[in-house]
Amino acid sequence: MQVGNPKPKPSVVPPLQTQTTVGNYFVTNYPPYAFWKPDFVPELEAALERPPRPDTSLGVYVHIPFCRKRCHFCYYKVYTDKDSAQVRAYLDAVLRELGHYASKPFIGGRTPRFVYFGGGTPSYLSEKQLRHLTDEMKRLLSWEAAEEITFEAEPGTLTDHKLAAIRDIGVTRLSLGIEHFDDHILEINGRAHRSKEIDRAYAFARAIGFPQINIDLIAGMVEETEERWRETVAKAVALAPDSVTIYQMEVPYNTTIYQRMKAEGRLVAPVADWDTKRAWVDHAFREFERAGYAVNSTSTVVKDPAKTKFVYRHQLFAGADLASVGVASFGHIHGVHYQNHHEFDPYLAALDAGRSPVYRALTPTPDELYIREFMLLLKLGQVSREYFRSKFGTDPVEQFAGPLEALKATGHLTVEGDAIRLDRAGLLKVDLLIRAFFKPEHQGTKYA
Ligand code: SF4
Repeated sequence: MQVGNPKPKPSVVPPLQTQTTVGNYFVTNYPPYAFWKPDFVPELEAALERPPRPDTSLGVYVHIPFCRKRCHFCYYKVYTDKDSAQVRAYLDAVLRELGHYASKPFIGGRTPRFVYFGGGTPSYLSEKQLRHLTDEMKRLLSWEAAEEITFEAEPGTLTDHKLAAIRDIGVTRLSLGIEHFDDHILEINGRAHRSKEIDRAYAFARAIGFPQINIDLIAGMVEETEERWRETVAKAVALAPDSVTIYQMEVPYNTTIYQRMKAEGRLVAPVADWDTKRAWVDHAFREFERAGYAVNSTSTVVKDPAKTKFVYRHQLFAGADLASVGVASFGHIHGVHYQNHHEFDPYLAALDAGRSPVYRALTPTPDELYIREFMLLLKLGQVSREYFRSKFGTDPVEQFAGPLEALKATGHLTVEGDAIRLDRAGLLKVDLLIRAFFKPEHQGTKYA
């Protein structure tokens, strides 16, 4: 695709925050969600009627919005009060939605290359609910050829039986939301599980042979200390998971922590500042590197890069079609971004009435798609100029001359031959640095 070659504009790297204040920190898509509108939903409906673009992978995302308890730092749409009849009604709505997509021309005979169960807590589902959901999903779109089936799990919801069922339905990558190993930190941050549930679930998951076990950690939860973080990192290294995802704690608006800050008139969240959180992630990266792991993004380390892939992440960054189902879920089909209704009852009501549950959409322009992919792939630490030249028709060094110069001036980015590369310090704050690539009308937008 040929993209215009705009004149370089002076670019500015946004000021780096030090204290943790309210708001989303991570950049997960582009253009920002504030620009997605209900008026654009017909663009998605038209996209569904077109055959797929050549060489575009298909993925499926299923959102399971139930949790045992709401974590104080959580900003997702989650429900802790639904009974089994409501869960069943929700799963049936999800299946109707997937059935709608499966019948549309954009599928073009493809089967999913990857499937992702996220939430919420997918492992909140009972074994019976899980089998019902996945048996019906497979009838609609076969998983036989999928390279990766990811399933997010909260350790306290996992019995041995349920873990065996999760493996049996074809999950290749179990992602355990451990977050921390210290029971006091887990409790004070509102997590439902405790460390002994982690040990039990991890041991059994290992024993039954998941091809990939990922664990999630969060650096900088409420009451985190240097000592506790170091202990948590040591325990994570000792578990020897296939990969680890380490988030820096952010405090978005829709969190219990922010509600408390507001009530107390505080502007700064009661968590570590950004420099400290980056230093903690850096410590974790170094400890895992000492254990033989490789850092392969701003937030992940992997034990064996040749074997452990993140198909979902890479395909999503590279613009795969993602048929995303469930309340509040985000998808991307044929160049159109979309999001579903973010409330339970309207989502179900739309599907009960045979209507689409999509609430807002946006068709990015070709140069916005270029910005999106370039920024997201830069979060892996290094991008190839040739990859972008062949996909978009212009060299990123010309396309993004202004922002690249601005980032070079920070000392964190270099261009050497084909590679545009961030150093470790730049990688740890890439979500701030990449805002320099935003178009002027998107600068300063709240990322929610
Ligand atoms: S388990 Fe995850 S989705 Fe559920 S409340 Fe906690 S952070 Fe949110």
